[in-house]
Amino acid sequence: MKVIRKEFRISTKSRNEMIDITEQVSSIVGQSDISSGDVIVYCPHTTAAITINENADPAVPHDILLVLEELVPHSNPGYRHSEGNSDAHCKSTLVGCSKQLLVKNGALELGTWQGIFFCEFDGPRSRKVYVQVRGE
Ligand code: ZN
Repeated sequence: MKVIRKEFRISTKSRNEMIDITEQVSSIVGQSDISSGDVIVYCPHTTAAITINENADPAVPHDILLVLEELVPHSNPGYRHSEGNSDAHCKSTLVGCSKQLLVKNGALELGTWQGIFFCEFDGPRSRKVYVQVRGE
């Protein structure tokens, strides 16, 4: 089994934002020379996350961010963390810091409407994404 490990950086522009990183991940898979296996997309940050959802209609990521904001308000008199970004830590844990996807015929196997998103919850910042492709 072959293992390829890459990383790339992204600059986020807003405090809460979902950025489509499907192209970057696809390109790493395409260059990996692995035709069958899987890929892990990992976010090494405590106030950001990785998710998969619809990337055709920009209203979908907008609505996801809206619902997360309603679930986890920016301020809460019960928060103890002194940095003032407890909401971002909670959103990161709710969404999760990694996703595993399948690789078939040398390409990402995603549904028609699916894309991979980097979720920023405490931007703007410079962020990293780790990608590991495994297989034959
Ligand atoms: Zn913090």
